[in-house]
Amino acid sequence: MKYRECLENVLPYVPGKSEEEIKKEFNLNKVIKIASNENPYGASPKIKDVLKNIIHYNIYPDNYVTELRKSLANELNVPENYLLFGNGSVEIIQMLSRILLEKGDNIVTELPSFSSYFSEAMIQDVNIKTISFENDYNFNLDKMLDIVDKNTKIVYLTNPNNPLGTILRKEELINFINQVPKEVLIVVDEAYFEFVRDKEYISAIELIKNYKNVCVLKTFSKAYGLAALRIGYIVANSDIITELEKVRVPFNVSTISQMCALIALEEKDYMKSSVDKIHNTIDFLYEKLDKANIEYIKTQANFIMINLKQDSKLIVYEMLKRGVIVRDGFPLMDTWIRVSIGTKDEMEVFCKVLKEVIG
Ligand SMILES: *Cc1c(COP(=O)(O)O)cnc(C)c1O
Repeated sequence: MKYRECLENVLPYVPGKSEEEIKKEFNLNKVIKIASNENPYGASPKIKDVLKNIIHYNIYPDNYVTELRKSLANELNVPENYLLFGNGSVEIIQMLSRILLEKGDNIVTELPSFSSYFSEAMIQDVNIKTISFENDYNFNLDKMLDIVDKNTKIVYLTNPNNPLGTILRKEELINFINQVPKEVLIVVDEAYFEFVRDKEYISAIELIKNYKNVCVLKTFSKAYGLAALRIGYIVANSDIITELEKVRVPFNVSTISQMCALIALEEKDYMKSSVDKIHNTIDFLYEKLDKANIEYIKTQANFIMINLKQDSKLIVYEMLKRGVIVRDGFPLMDTWIRVSIGTKDEMEVFCKVLKEVIG
């Protein structure tokens, strides 16, 4: 890949050493850290109370995200330098755009897909090329291959797709990756990976070792339930990570986020049990929608697209008035709404209100 020329002389941020590192290195019991303009009095008693389990709340976060990195490297069976963390995976989309995209370039993606690919490409002033879905709401990657050209720098695949909830299957994914020029970065966004039930699905993490131009985005915002804490990560070849480190904002992932994400990984059974519940609720919803003869797309994620067969804007507004918030306004899908899978009780209310407003 050809990175932006101006990055050649950029060095990634190097933080000062932590108290713990200095203690170890020089065999000391006590160290006074007065190097980073932190506040020795910390925060108010109320905040201290909330954070009482976090000892170093007045100290900047671990810039290397050491513990979480070790744990994930182990779980995913990749080297530690294949990982980089972001303030949500959206921040990593921003970083990828900053290292690769300049005027004259283009990105290629699916339509509809995740809005950040579009906005970050626009910020970098590059062109956006898209393919739309087929009649079965899947994407035809052969058509995507046709629009990749010599100016294409990034291809974004959302797998499963948001908002459609459909997936790219193992064979078509590998077949596609094999044919994309090696200078093009293929970003597979797996924000909904944990929800997939289709047996023909694979995580592209399996492919990273063989394809240096493939990387994967993951997040703790969805299945792990930590959206408020803003933490996601990329798995990629170390060459890509090295470039990303240059544009990463120092200390971009808070200490609390790092700690909670680590706990979430250790408590994987909790995540799995909530995914099970979501699956049950999806099956329940399928039944309800089938009975009411309402069109929907079978989903591999934790949301579902429903076709109201009329302008969705009015319906969404009517539902809003009744206290149910759903999303509409997706490109090419004027009559559709996207409904996130809440609790079973919430979905019962949703069904009742939907019936009310569509009559
Ligand atoms: C929700 C979502 C993300 C995750 O964003 P975070 O910044 O990690 O919260 C990324 N990609 C897609 C397609 C999503 O739907």
